[in-house]
Amino acid sequence: VSLFTNPITNILNFTETFQKAVAGFARFMEVLDTQPDIEDAPDARPLRVTEGAIEYRHVDFSYVEGEPVISDLNLKIRPGETIALVGPSGGGKSTTCSLLPRFYDVDAGEILIDGQDVRSVTQESLRQAIGLVQQDVYLFDGSVADNIAYGNPEATLEDIREAGRRAHVEDFVRDLPEGYETEVGQRGTRLSGGQKQRIAIARVFLKNPPILIFDEATSALDNESEAAVQQSLADLAEGRTTIVIAHRLSTIRDADEIVTIDDGRVSERGTHEELLARGGTYAHYYRMQFGDAQA
Ligand code: ADP
Ligand code: MG
Repeated sequence: VSLFTNPITNILNFTETFQKAVAGFARFMEVLDTQPDIEDAPDARPLRVTEGAIEYRHVDFSYVEGEPVISDLNLKIRPGETIALVGPSGGGKSTTCSLLPRFYDVDAGEILIDGQDVRSVTQESLRQAIGLVQQDVYLFDGSVADNIAYGNPEATLEDIREAGRRAHVEDFVRDLPEGYETEVGQRGTRLSGGQKQRIAIARVFLKNPPILIFDEATSALDNESEAAVQQSLADLAEGRTTIVIAHRLSTIRDADEIVTIDDGRVSERGTHEELLARGGTYAHYYRMQFGDAQA
């Protein structure tokens, strides 16, 4: 069940609307392309990921001075675990994620990966360690294979096919006239949303990062594509430390831990069962959003 197909979503302020999510994504991409102001420390070293543990310690952040967006955020994610961030629109979920690959620097506190402050390592090694899966996918003019290999000139056709198999790209490439060599058209216009999404996931399989960030909004996909994409993502997250901005009930339930973020702070954390039993914010949201899905 997707939040976006639930009519009650429209009248609740629990999670972002599709439009807002898209706007947020556009900002995210801009940052990704330009990376303003952020520079490697003079003594920066390559990040060494041994386990994939992530820790936010007393993090403060604001886009505009005097208007805090994140305040004293503390978060620990154990190696290989998936945490789901849930909470109201504008609560700071996307911002929390964007601080990990250092699209922005914290104003106070620190973010550690296996004990290394993200500001102390080279950005190249940091971004190599983190795979991003966004709700919208940018493909360039070229073949399916080119698009999977994106950013990895050393990838062999065998590597590309293996990534394509794992991301369930193979399922539709089989039916394309020239298989992996089929041109995707300008920005992937010859492919459906779900197919593009799976190509993006194949890229991440090929990159093979130990850490994942996923804004899971799949509202643009039809049900069949969504199911295929969900399966690819679940496979991808296996064995990697994953932060999901979760919109779907199944993702939230399956997460090792749910963290509710409200007004830039963690308001609750625990498993689905624990948080339901507590009867607090999460339980309230859950009933409001998914109450009718339980039956
Ligand atoms: P969420 O993902 O939980 O909806 P966000 O992290 O996107 O929340 O937003 C948190 C707050 O930061 C909101 O008030 C939002 O308007 C603001 N914000 C997000 N991105 C930017 C930005 N690039 N510049 C200025 N303000 C931003
Ligand atoms: Mg967001």
